[in-house]
Amino acid sequence: VSSSQEASFPAAVSLASVSRHFDAVKAVDQVDLTVHEGEFFGMLGPSGSGKTTCLRLVAGFEQPTAGHIAIFGEQVDGIPPYRRSVNTVFQDYALFPHMNVVDNVAYGLMIRGVGKKERRRQAEETLELVRLSEFVDREPGQLSGGQRQRVALARALINRPKVLLLDEPLGALDLKLREQMQVELKSLQRELGITFVFVTHDQSEALSMSDRVAVFNQGRVVQVGTPVDIYERPETRFVADFVGSSNILEPAFCERIGAPSGLWSLRPEKIRLAPEGLSDEAGTIDVTGEVRHVQYQGATRRCVLAVKDTELALAMPAVGVEPVVGRTAHVRWRLDDMHGMKQV
Ligand code: ATP
Repeated sequence: VSSSQEASFPAAVSLASVSRHFDAVKAVDQVDLTVHEGEFFGMLGPSGSGKTTCLRLVAGFEQPTAGHIAIFGEQVDGIPPYRRSVNTVFQDYALFPHMNVVDNVAYGLMIRGVGKKERRRQAEETLELVRLSEFVDREPGQLSGGQRQRVALARALINRPKVLLLDEPLGALDLKLREQMQVELKSLQRELGITFVFVTHDQSEALSMSDRVAVFNQGRVVQVGTPVDIYERPETRFVADFVGSSNILEPAFCERIGAPSGLWSLRPEKIRLAPEGLSDEAGTIDVTGEVRHVQYQGATRRCVLAVKDTELALAMPAVGVEPVVGRTAHVRWRLDDMHGMKQV
């Protein structure tokens, strides 16, 4: 994208060198981020890495200690939350317990002085969008977790914000429901075309829902990219470890096995069992090691192989030859599947 194009299509959200320090704690530290219009953008990181603070800065519940935030090209420094074109879905949903579903959803319109009939019409329309039309008269306590989550969504969507911020939106749901809601959220976002920015500490959720992901560590954004970028090409040891599991090949180990020198990440599923003897394929590395553990996981089998002083993790389909603990095994991977990382 050229700079002239960028000027005519401002980013949905942009953070320029934004920090939020609480005394000595650098909750958010010099973060630069650009979220494009219509994107489903994930903020991923371990607990305490600054994701929620970052989201609250965009929402306006926190003010930066330094730096600037713009929403659709408009600087929002000092502008209160209700005057920003964003809305937030909180993790605990923050529904009013003694208000029925339709009044919960219409609340924001009531505050703005919209008449009762019009409020109801818009609330019912929004509830239809999240497939809750049958539940308009219930109170939150009479709904399942997934239904409450959809009420919270409808309530945040009724004002048609340009950007929807979601803090661990599916965190309170059990695994099955969460997977179902991941699909629903994604298709709702596509249907509405609204920019979604969501926070999660769950790497599989971030990978499966996001168009792009920002990985946070200790208040900083350490990598931004598509899920494939982040998974296949982690730039640092931290990203390689936090997003999925990875083998880290140290320079000394590489030397011993005849691989190019450097610090590399190699995903367990890229290593496969191979027949003994030298590889006749070009561009591959072959090693032999002792099988330490084998773990059957249904669709896959995970295996740990000790090669010299390094343990390699392998993930292979559960069908086929099973490695035997205590025996030697020969494995092979492609040089192309080793991804170089920074020495940090
Ligand atoms: P989690 O996934 O656990 O919610 P997070 O990545 O969202 O974590 P934040 O909630 O943004 O992390 O917190 C980042 C750091 O800032 C933490 O060390 C936290 O203790 C600190 N912090 C956040 N809010 C405040 C506050 N109001 N006062 C003091 N410290 C704070």
